This record gives sequence, C-alpha cells and structure tokens, in this order.
Amino acid sequence: MRGLKQSPWILHYDASSCNGCDIETLACLTPIFDVERLGVLNTGNPKHADIFLVTGAVNEQSKAVIQNLYRQLPEPKVVVAVGACASSGGIFRECYNIFGGVDIVVPVDVYVPGCAARPEAIIDGVVKGLAVMEEKHAILAAVRDGLDKIIYARAEKAGALPIHAIRKVAGQTEAVLHGDDNFPALQQTLEELQKEFDKKYFFKAEVNGKVIGSVSAWLDGETVRVDGLAVHPYFEGAGVAGRLLAECEAAFRGVKRFETFIGNKSERQLKVLEEAGYKNFKTEVFTPKITWIHLRKELK
Ligand code: SF4
Repeated sequence: MRGLKQSPWILHYDASSCNGCDIETLACLTPIFDVERLGVLNTGNPKHADIFLVTGAVNEQSKAVIQNLYRQLPEPKVVVAVGACASSGGIFRECYNIFGGVDIVVPVDVYVPGCAARPEAIIDGVVKGLAVMEEKHAILAAVRDGLDKIIYARAEKAGALPIHAIRKVAGQTEAVLHGDDNFPALQQTLEELQKEFDKKYFFKAEVNGKVIGSVSAWLDGETVRVDGLAVHPYFEGAGVAGRLLAECEAAFRGVKRFETFIGNKSERQLKVLEEAGYKNFKTEVFTPKITWIHLRKELK
C-alpha cells in the first residue's frame, strides 16, 4: 500500500470530452505541475493502472469502452470522474447521444468539479482517490484475515444508504454480464429503497462496519418473496450470498415456500440458490437481453 500511495499509476480515458478537461489533465504532467515528480505515472495499459481517470460524458461509443477498461484494472481500483461532463453529463447532458456521467456505467469513487476541471482540482481528486484505495485495501485485508469477521444482521431504515450503494455495485456487475443496464437495482433511487423498509425485512453482511452484502424479503400470503441479493464483487465466492439467504430464511419460520428471481446470465447466483435448495419453475422475458429465471424453494 505504501508503494501505491506514493506512486499511483493512472489510466486516462476521454469518454467524449470537448478536450478541455483532457488538456487540463495533461497539464498536470507538464513542468508547472509535474505530477511525475510525485510518482504519479500516466500509463496506457489498464492492467498496470491503479486509478481510472475519465473525462467527458458517456455516449454510445464510449460506454462499452469504459466498461471494458474498468474490468481490466486490477482490484482494488479507483475511478475518478474529471469535470462536469464526466460527473453528470455537464453541458451535454440533454444531448440526444449522451447517457450521462461515468457513474451510469461504472461505480465512481471521486468526482472532480469544474468546466474545465483545474489541474489543482484533478491532483486533489487523485489524492482523494488514494484515500479511497486505502479503504478498499483495508476491506480486502479483512477478507484475507478471515471470513469470521463478517457480521450478519437485520438492517434498519436508517442504514439504507450503504445498502443502496452495494445494490448499485452488484447491479453494475449484473448489467455488464447481461449487456443491459435495465436492472431494477440500477434504476432505484435511495428514497424508493427507503420506502421498501416499510414492507420488507432487510439483512446485511458487514466487515469492519462496511456493508458488503444485503438481501431483502417480505411475506406474500404463504410465500416469502426474496429479492435484492447483492454481494460486493470482492466477496463473491466467499459464501456471503449463501449465508445472507440462510439468515433471511431463518427469519421466516413456518412459511410454505420462498421465491426469488435472477437474470439468466447470473450463473454465480444461480449456483448459490440451487445449493440452497431453490429450483427453477418459470422464466420471464424482461428485456431483449434479460430473462428472469424464477426459482422456488418448497418447505412443506
Ligand atoms: S467539463 Fe467542460 S471542459 Fe470538461 S469536457 Fe465537459 S465541457 Fe469540456
């Protein structure tokens, strides 16, 4: 971590910028600011980069490129959106060909304001990104130290924000898998999620106070409907999803069945559910690229 903090390597991508923010980004490398003297290196290889720095708004052409580059950066990675366009779409937000800011397609850790963003602000964004990376390292270290540090518990409405965030992160993974952004978790606002707490039980998995997974469920007659099973990508394959399901089921003793649904390409989730006793009983086309697989677990 010391090496990373002192010499982060950056991958810069222009998503559809007017070039204003790109010029300011390159100004960081020129003699006045000269970030290389601080150990910051601009690399062209995503596999060598620690920080993904994006300028410009997302359009049809840059969308897939951003996702492709993002996937190639090793974990833990940090995304810095530079300028108003990368943060929200900026002045191009209402254009016919613009989807919005970078967080439409990948999770963003730091937003750098400005049109154009000033070099000082860009350097500040990278420094803030290093703090985020340190936090992500701590989470990874917690995993290495042992999964027994994960706490499973009921979540309350006041704790909706981290659950909203984890659903977005997991939803991004699902969207990439299916090549379609129409996953409900990606469309849901924090307010909508908070309202769900009035009807549903929420369960969370936490490490060092950080929510790394969640699931929700509610009673519908004699059936418990389970949805929103989400686990941070770092913890996939570590048994967190199965344990969250078990916690959820334990809270609904005496019911007849549990039902849930997942995307047709969510193979990892399908495996977890099948291991927990769920069986496919119908499919339903949601969009041309997403078909829901409905699964049921009969108890009586
Ligand atoms: S934020 Fe301003 S300077 Fe930067 S890419 Fe957008 S329009 Fe250009």
